[in-house]
Amino acid sequence: MHPSTPLSEAFRLSAPHKAALHKLGIGTVRDLLFHFPFRYDEAGGETTIAGLTAGADASVVGTLEKLETRKSWRRKIPVAEGFIADSTGKIKAMWFNQPYIAKMWTDGTLVRASGKVSGSGKKLYLANPHLERVSGTDAGLFEAAAPAERAPAAPTGFFAVYPESSGVTSLWFRHAVARALASGVLDQIEDPLPPDLLKRYHLPSLRTSLVVIHTPHHPKDAAAARKRFAFEEVFFIQLARQRERLAHRREKSFSIEATSRDIDSFTAAFPFKETRAQKRAIGSIVADMRAGHPMSRLLEGDVGSGKTAVAATAAYAVVRTRPQGQTFGTLQVAYMAPTEILAKQHFESFIKYFETHPINIGLITGSGCYKFPSKIARDKATTISRSQLLKWVENGEIPILIGTHALIEREVRFKHLALVVIDEQHRFGTNQRRKLARKEERLPHLLSMTATPIPRTLALTVYGDLDLTVLDEMPAGRKPIITEVVSPEARGAAYAKMRAELKAGRQAYVICPRIDEPDPEKALAVMAKSVKEEAKRLKKDVFPEYEIDILHSKMKPAEKDRAMKKFSEGETAILVATSVVEVGVNVPNATIIFIEGAERFGLAQLHQLRGRVVRSSHQAYCFVCPETRGERTLARLKALTTAKNGFELAEMDLLQRGAGELSGRKQWGISDVGMEALENLKLVEAARSEALALVEEDETLAGYPALASELESRTRGFHFE
Ligand code: ADP
Ligand code: MG
Repeated sequence: MHPSTPLSEAFRLSAPHKAALHKLGIGTVRDLLFHFPFRYDEAGGETTIAGLTAGADASVVGTLEKLETRKSWRRKIPVAEGFIADSTGKIKAMWFNQPYIAKMWTDGTLVRASGKVSGSGKKLYLANPHLERVSGTDAGLFEAAAPAERAPAAPTGFFAVYPESSGVTSLWFRHAVARALASGVLDQIEDPLPPDLLKRYHLPSLRTSLVVIHTPHHPKDAAAARKRFAFEEVFFIQLARQRERLAHRREKSFSIEATSRDIDSFTAAFPFKETRAQKRAIGSIVADMRAGHPMSRLLEGDVGSGKTAVAATAAYAVVRTRPQGQTFGTLQVAYMAPTEILAKQHFESFIKYFETHPINIGLITGSGCYKFPSKIARDKATTISRSQLLKWVENGEIPILIGTHALIEREVRFKHLALVVIDEQHRFGTNQRRKLARKEERLPHLLSMTATPIPRTLALTVYGDLDLTVLDEMPAGRKPIITEVVSPEARGAAYAKMRAELKAGRQAYVICPRIDEPDPEKALAVMAKSVKEEAKRLKKDVFPEYEIDILHSKMKPAEKDRAMKKFSEGETAILVATSVVEVGVNVPNATIIFIEGAERFGLAQLHQLRGRVVRSSHQAYCFVCPETRGERTLARLKALTTAKNGFELAEMDLLQRGAGELSGRKQWGISDVGMEALENLKLVEAARSEALALVEEDETLAGYPALASELESRTRGFHFE
């Protein structure tokens, strides 16, 4: 076997196996070796069903029988139950609060069931056992490999358990990996990390790491291998970022000529005084843009910290500047928002910020285009055709264009695009900038803005190529939001407070973890309140006198818009929604947010949700309502009442829940192993400084061919570039 050998050549694969492996992105022997287990079980841990004793943690291998769902008569919670049978007997299995287990699994499936043996005497049962499919055909593929669960890859007492997708079992992986390792394929894989680097951080070689991560003598040994892979991943991300950063520094951009007097005249017209943090941010941005190289700056700040005002000021500095060698026209700004709702809000905010410095502003979204001011009414915006808008952008008559992703489509061409502002967009690389600027030999400046509170290690990693500015100060005079953790008994009192606010004319959000049906991917989680059911219940039992509407991600864009419009115009009093409202909805009159199933959200995410109601001068309330009443849950949620800002909460999330639970983790493009690194600031800093040193010494990595080719193949994999 060679690392690049397709698995279909190395093994006899059935069509379902092929499809499942393809879905997991595993095509070659190398991919197989880099598909890591997520835990290790002790071999021999399983017993026969006849041998089970009460109180033990046990694994049995058997067939599922008589799966069904019912409601427990006493506690009224849904229970799935069934039996697991082997040649020695049969034991009952029960899953509380997981009714869909019965839908996801079918009678007759051969499984390994692991869980606690509960009950007593003859009435034993397995409580909430974890199921792992064991396939008879798997064993058949490897003639030598009976009996079923004594994997040859684990002669040592532990065997690897892999993330499964329907069709490929852990057992298959164990056998396949064992065969690959035995074939000597490791002799043909070069370690991309320089040996002195490994030595400096006491990291095992690639060869050792691959063997140990799949077939450890003890799970402890696998930890060293995981640490190596974690380091390696962050190191490669940093290499890519630091190289990008160096390359950027050499590019040309527009010199923005606005003086501090110009800037002051613009901000003086705001209906408020900027915070010191805003002043500082504006100062760094203007200084960056004055130098002739492209700015790459990330502005982090909680919701409501005033990022839009900073962006408007940066935009003003740009549109004050004439294109080089021209005595007319101005440089241009593109401002991209993640949703149509937000793009429209920014458009309206910009019109206000530019009130005393009138200028043409365009809005482009999938569903329509606008221009301010209108020819007829100078204080109003007007709809215009897309082609007309594009024409004016291309000839430079519209200096500021705000929009959704529609903004970076091929037909949108600017005359002199000098600044790109990205709101809540997590990555926006050089390539995208270059695409936008394709008619220019200069790259536009980039101001990226985010309210997503992420821990420092993650920021250092994913934003390694950006300069960071934090708006760590809220505008003066904001009333801090009153946050209450609501115990089940206190729900009525919370509703009473909510009603008082509604009576006073305010509006409320109610957030639920689900839309409707349980999500099969999260099947092992507890049943949680759903938007649809909760909206019905509130209307029927709690707030019949108020208009209640729903909002969730499965609604069509037009339906969502309608729901938002009704809510923002005050027609709807209570909006029951999923966390879709997390990103950028601005309804100043909504001052209450009631969050159901709160323990399912990270603290940072709860903080962001809460940010939806801090936008007015009215007192705002946040009711955080967990489903369970565990003390740890309550203690964790209490942090919401004590933490200073979202970034602090993000650190707490990381500490308490681990990197695997960071919200939105998929979007970062970091593997499970890489995420583990984020719990270790020292490791992340080491990877960063090593990458920086290496790139500064040898930018093309000519002296490190293995490293260079690995970086090349990984960078292609980054989904955000
Ligand atoms: P962010 O984008 O950071 O969530 P915005 O820029 O939308 O925040 O500002 C939120 C609200 O606060 C807006 O209504 C804005 O007019 C107002 N605001 C911004 N800066 C200040 C300030 N320094 N003082 C008072 N109000 C401010
Ligand atoms: Mg904003």
